[in-house]
Amino acid sequence: TTRVDWERSDNFHNSHLLRKDEALDAAIRNSEANDLPPISVSPAAGQLLYLLAKSIGAKRVLEIGTLGGYSTIHLARALPDDGKVITLELSEHHAKVATENITKAGVASKVDIIVGPALDSLRKVASEPKFDFAFIDADKTNMLNYFIAAKRLLRKGGAIYVDNVIRGGLVADPAADTSEFSDGVRKFILAMKDDEEVEATTIGTVTGKGYDGFLYAVKK
Ligand code: SAM
Repeated sequence: TTRVDWERSDNFHNSHLLRKDEALDAAIRNSEANDLPPISVSPAAGQLLYLLAKSIGAKRVLEIGTLGGYSTIHLARALPDDGKVITLELSEHHAKVATENITKAGVASKVDIIVGPALDSLRKVASEPKFDFAFIDADKTNMLNYFIAAKRLLRKGGAIYVDNVIRGGLVADPAADTSEFSDGVRKFILAMKDDEEVEATTIGTVTGKGYDGFLYAVKK
């Protein structure tokens, strides 16, 4: 069997497709220096979020799970000057580091961070204008709850991107993996069977961090 070096593959593709980006590099460095876990989306996935939000002409984006704001910066850059990313984060510390990173990247005017449990924050934004795009990337136990809430807050034709739904294939193998993490994702995928409000698909991905994937849904 051939051993494939997926890190090398990432580097090859990224080096030809992604431009050097001082603000994003600084965000990663500052997050590391402040002991945030290294669980931001990959550079290529960040670029995909940017491209997706841009291609649907998004003006209002909802993000669940800010961490250090790495994905937030990508999303904010996709929006016009009067666009807004509302991003929800549980940890005060993560939100503080994210604020630094977002400010340094020059997109602070397009980002509002709401600190607290996302389920509470989602109730608070319910009265706001509808969103065009949602990115779900927080605790996986609440994945289904976040999806239901995001769906309600989205305009018709709006899109939801849900990260980490494959987990090396373990999500599809309850006998091998009964972690709370995979259970949460599984519950979400099972609920999709009867969901008449969206059309959706999952796409498997491979990176230096291994196999995973995302679900992409468009509201009918
Ligand atoms: N989207 C970020 C990126 O790509 O740069 C990464 C987000 S990280 C995978 C998940 C984040 O969700 C963590 O910062 C964590 O503190 C936050 N989180 C966990 N549980 C949460 C909750 N109940 N409400 C809001 N945020 C939560």
